[in-house]
Amino acid sequence: MKKLGFGLMRLPCINGDGKNIDLEKVKEMVDLFLAHGYTYFDTAYVYHGGFSEVAFRECVVKRHPRESFTVTTKLPLFPNPDRAGMERMFGESMERLGVDYIDYYWLHALNRGSYQFAVSSGAFDYLRELKAQGKIKHMGFSFHDNAETLDKILTEQPDMEFVQLQLNYLDWEDKGVQSRLCYEVATKHGKPVIVMEPIKGGSLANPVKKVEKMLKDAEPDMSCASWAIRFAASLPNVMVVLSGMSELWQVEDNLSYMDDFKPVTDEEKAILEEAAKELKFAIPCTACRYCTDGCPMNINIPEIFAAYNRMKQDIHKKWEAREKYAEILKTSGSPEDCIGCEQCVNACPQHLEIPKLLSECAGDLG
Ligand code: SF4
Ligand code: SF4
Repeated sequence: MKKLGFGLMRLPCINGDGKNIDLEKVKEMVDLFLAHGYTYFDTAYVYHGGFSEVAFRECVVKRHPRESFTVTTKLPLFPNPDRAGMERMFGESMERLGVDYIDYYWLHALNRGSYQFAVSSGAFDYLRELKAQGKIKHMGFSFHDNAETLDKILTEQPDMEFVQLQLNYLDWEDKGVQSRLCYEVATKHGKPVIVMEPIKGGSLANPVKKVEKMLKDAEPDMSCASWAIRFAASLPNVMVVLSGMSELWQVEDNLSYMDDFKPVTDEEKAILEEAAKELKFAIPCTACRYCTDGCPMNINIPEIFAAYNRMKQDIHKKWEAREKYAEILKTSGSPEDCIGCEQCVNACPQHLEIPKLLSECAGDLG
C-alpha cells in the first residue's frame, strides 16, 4: 500500500459551514488521489457532523469501483453508548458510507479513561463480532495517551490489528504525547501504525520563520508539510500517513513527493531534530514552579514562558499568546518589575537565565 492516506476531517466547506461540504471540490481531490494509485481513506462517525461519511459516499463510493479504495471509519465512545447505541452508530456509518463492508473499523480516540469504558461496555467484543460477520475486515483503535497505557491495551486486547497514533517530528520526543514511545510499543506488539496529525493540525506546514528557513535552505522546492509527512512515512512500521487535505493544491503537493517516496536521510532527520527544538523549546521550562515561591515580585514565570513558547511554536498563535500574556499580568508581577535578585535562577533545575528570558518575553509579548 502507498503510504499516504486521505484524511476526511478537514474537507472544503461552503460558507464555512462544516456540514455543507463542497462536493465538487472533493470529487476533484479524490479523483486525483485515486488516479495516482492511492487507496486509503479515513473518516469517522463524528467528522463534519456525520457529513464526512456522506461526502465519501457521494464522491468516492458512487463514482469508483469498490476494489479501488479502502475506507476506515470509527466508533465514538465519548457518548458512552450501550450496545444498542453502538449498533445504531455502526448502522448509520454503513448507510452514510453506502458500503456493505468497512475495511478498517476503529474505536475512536482511546485513552486510559475511555479504555475502561470500552472494556466494560463490550466495545471490543462488538468489533470482534462485526469482524466475524464479515461486516468489517480489520479492527483497531485510534489512541491519545501515553505509552504505558498503550502497552496495557495491546497486552489486554492482543487481537486488535492496527493502532492509529498522533505522530510527528515535533511530538516525537514530547513528554506528553510520547510519539516515539507509543510507536515503539506498537512495534513491539507487532501492530502496524496509522499516523494521524503528521503536520500537527497544520502548524508544521507553516512553522516559525527560522524553521521555515532551515527547511527551505535544505530543500528549496519542498514544502514544509512535505518534511513532516516524509518523517512519519519513513518509519518502517508505519502503514499509512493521513493527511487531512482541504484544497486541491495540497493533494498535488503531497503527491509530488509521495509518488516517488524517498525516506528522510540521516542528515534530514538531524535538520528536523533541530527544527523541533526551535518549535518546541524556545524556553525549555518544565513548569515545575520551583522558581515562583521565592520571587519577591510575584512574577508568574512559568506562565509567561508558556505564552512565549506558544508564540514561538506557531506564528498564527502570536495574538493569542499576547492576549494570554495580558491576562497573566492581571494577577502576576510584570517582567519589568524583576529586580534581578536571581532567587529564581538558583531554584531552577533547568538552569534557565530567568531574568534575561523574562526580558525577552516582555519584548516579544508586550
Ligand atoms: S530575579 Fe526577578 S524573577 Fe527572579 S526571583 Fe528575582 S525578581 Fe523574581
Ligand atoms: S524553576 Fe525553571 S523550569 Fe521550573 S517553572 Fe521555573 S523557570 Fe520553569
